[in-house]
Amino acid sequence: MEKLILSTDNTHKVIEIKEALKGLPLLIQGKSSLLQEPLEVEENLDTLEGNAGLKARALAEKLPGHYILADDTGLFVPSLNGEPGVHSARYGGDHDDRKNNLKLLEKLKGQEDRSAYFKTVLFLIDPSGKEVILEGICPGKILKDFQGQEAFGYDPLFLPDNFQKSFAQMTTEEKNAISHRGRALAKLRDYLEETLGEN
Ligand code: IMP
Repeated sequence: MEKLILSTDNTHKVIEIKEALKGLPLLIQGKSSLLQEPLEVEENLDTLEGNAGLKARALAEKLPGHYILADDTGLFVPSLNGEPGVHSARYGGDHDDRKNNLKLLEKLKGQEDRSAYFKTVLFLIDPSGKEVILEGICPGKILKDFQGQEAFGYDPLFLPDNFQKSFAQMTTEEKNAISHRGRALAKLRDYLEETLGEN
């Protein structure tokens, strides 16, 4: 069976990706178990596509001949010129969800337009080296206060369009069905179903 190697080792992401691609003839594995030494990639480009590409290409170079998947996500707020964007993970200075959220609330104080969207980019490299980029977007707005438990990132501040509760108040299933990452993974599933079916 072909291998799909993930550039992430984040347990939650690995589980979500495996769930989304369940039933496809692919052996899905995080990168760490296959590499002799850690692979550090500096994500220094100013687009999600660029940074996902850096991660995917670095891994494909180490482990050629497999499907390779890297992802990158950001929260974009148009009234803040797209901030936090590619800097979402470290917006408040370091990798601290609480600081990120407080900075976002502060920046939006007095701002009428609180519209925002999450975007996920999936960068796939196939065993022949062909690159495919798929994206998923979830539009919504930034709440004025935290709603729900602080579990992951900006979830307690993000109210998806057409819903009355924040991402943090949803079950994993509810969130995955509408989230940026869920949507991008659904496109990936369609793409892989078609491609693997042709082989
Ligand atoms: P990553 O590229 O998936 O690591 O995402 C970068 C940053 O975006 C994370 O550290 C979070 O702060 C934020 N983020 C990504 N996805 C979500 C989400 O589904 N909910 C809330 N925050 C998220």
